[in-house]
Amino acid sequence: MTDGMACDAVPGDLPTSMRAAVWHGPGRPLTLERLPVPRVEEPEDVVIRVRAAMFGAALVRAVTSGHPKMTPPAVLGTLVAGDVVALGPAVRHLEVGRPVTVDPHPPCEHCANCRDGLRALCDTRAGVEPGAHAEYVRVRPPLTAHVTPVPAGVSPAAAMLTEIVACVLDATDTAGIGPGKDVLVIGCGPVALIQVRLARLRGAERVLCTVNHPGREALVTAAGGIPVAFDDRTAERVAGLTGGRGPHVVVEAVGRAETYRTAFDLVRTGGTVVGFGGCPPGTTLPLDLNDVHYRRIRFLGSYHYEPGVFAAALRLLASGELDLAPLLTHRIPLDRISDAVRTARLPDCLVPVVEPWKD
Ligand SMILES: [Zn+2]
Repeated sequence: MTDGMACDAVPGDLPTSMRAAVWHGPGRPLTLERLPVPRVEEPEDVVIRVRAAMFGAALVRAVTSGHPKMTPPAVLGTLVAGDVVALGPAVRHLEVGRPVTVDPHPPCEHCANCRDGLRALCDTRAGVEPGAHAEYVRVRPPLTAHVTPVPAGVSPAAAMLTEIVACVLDATDTAGIGPGKDVLVIGCGPVALIQVRLARLRGAERVLCTVNHPGREALVTAAGGIPVAFDDRTAERVAGLTGGRGPHVVVEAVGRAETYRTAFDLVRTGGTVVGFGGCPPGTTLPLDLNDVHYRRIRFLGSYHYEPGVFAAALRLLASGELDLAPLLTHRIPLDRISDAVRTARLPDCLVPVVEPWKD
């Protein structure tokens, strides 16, 4: 840090050290350690006090099996919400004290994918420093412009999920889910439940959702969907509920070959299969390609979202039409971080929220 920059930075009587959850490699529990609090060192730096950070399935896999892009030791986590506590003099759209969340996947507009119009797949990746599972994080360009104020009435834990809502919103609109359409969502985790609600909000006629977890039927119903037991009679039930024709759109939100197979089997002729679920590396699927060809089945891989969708997702949360509170089932304070994987795997756990800072 230069002296000049330190003088220009808008305050923050920040402590010198903080608590953070550190990952020391696959199969080892996260440990609570003290790290330096990140400082404003450049004119466009923003320091955020973290009130909510995600500990989802991808991070469970990282802690237990490793992560292709992370080398231990590291602080994990990319999805955060909190309050601005310090910022550089060039940051004009924020002020200290403002509740914010961060769009973690903004396009750079320069890479090959961005130039091809595939801005959802921008090659440039940036993240919060040192990682979301810490009391404080720093954001630098290109992410600074994507530190986004959270509207009143949206909790930090809900704001933290804006990125996931944006992913589902992008899939919903790209697949053409709307009035008159029947939709089947395969899976009953948080993404699937958000998908059910968004499909209904977009005007879908009937939104079926497979359920194989106790207690999820009520959540599907509350989201406006029709729960369908997931067993060897699922196909029969889905056909019965869709006039014998099958759903116009089937969203796979599990990430397994068998459920992708089910999606192709159950979709209506001329319908769309949305591949939302990420599978273990190397997963393959034998398909009768003539069945896909002659039935004109469209397969849509869905990953991330185009610019503007993050802001739309945040507006949706502020509208109150998408209530994420029932999904925010478990809280993990930092001093219980070593237990995070066990918590995330509890049968009744939908979204485990790490809470580094709680008043
Ligand atoms: Zn790019």
